[in-house]
Amino acid sequence: MLSIGIDIGGTKIAGCLIDGDAKVLREERVPTPAQDTEALVDAVVAMINSLKVDDEVSSVGVAAAGFIDAEGSMVRYSPNLSFRNEPLKAKIQERVSGEVFIENDANAAGWAEYRFGAGRGSKNMVMVTVGTGVGGAIVTNGKLMRGGFGIGGEIGHMNFIPNGKDCGCGQKGCLEQYGSGTALLNMGKDLVRSGKPEAKRLTDLCGSADELTGAMVYQAILDGDEGALSILNQLGKNLGTAIASISALLDPEIVVIGGGVSVLGETLLAPIRDAYLEHLPARGFRPEIKLVTAELVNEAGAIGAADLARHGSQSR
Ligand SMILES: [Zn+2]
Repeated sequence: MLSIGIDIGGTKIAGCLIDGDAKVLREERVPTPAQDTEALVDAVVAMINSLKVDDEVSSVGVAAAGFIDAEGSMVRYSPNLSFRNEPLKAKIQERVSGEVFIENDANAAGWAEYRFGAGRGSKNMVMVTVGTGVGGAIVTNGKLMRGGFGIGGEIGHMNFIPNGKDCGCGQKGCLEQYGSGTALLNMGKDLVRSGKPEAKRLTDLCGSADELTGAMVYQAILDGDEGALSILNQLGKNLGTAIASISALLDPEIVVIGGGVSVLGETLLAPIRDAYLEHLPARGFRPEIKLVTAELVNEAGAIGAADLARHGSQSR
């Protein structure tokens, strides 16, 4: 049975056609018209029809970066897209065949890792996505945890520092401001501005703090630069501290770190693991979680959306 998954991100829309074993048969990618809802829906519908060609498709999953309502019909709010109380399911459903399902993008990516990636074989998994922001997905006892109003699992907006840095959600001190790729870049800028000796490599790369990019920080980390590694360590410590709290609350067997920053692998996992152990309640008297990086980084959202759609209302 074939199904289609579409992942609407802030910069690109990725889509794939998968078979019953989640094998990707076709895939496509276009830029997201992020501030024009009608153009965005047109692009999604065009991609669905293009991926389908003549094949029989039973279901279509659409993952979007935003808060989805409990019924899976509406995108209530999206920080990076123009969706505001948008009845996305109905708008797509009236223009395509196959039943349409809407899902949060981090949930879809987490579901893909749980079913086909780093989390397979587990029953209780948490995924923490470290990219522009910090996303989360929670699987408990084999089911995706969406919460009472459909918007659970927003790990990035757990309070991390009381009255800390302003967050895009309207609050202060959210984990996202201390544990995301954006936070890493901001730490790099602060280091360059400090003029400390360990800022030399980053300063040589960028000239001035405002010109520093994520790619430069990444390069300096790969070069083994002391300053760049120190800010990555701080980022990892922040994430590990939060994961100790997540363990206290949800007791997962495995935590999967996804998102762009996760390509750093063990260099990122080591400080996360250290801080997790340092802050774990009842350490030594409970099993430690398995801490790994994601396996499906780029396609995870589309594959997860397609697989959730195939399971349809049973997955809700
Ligand atoms: Zn927040």
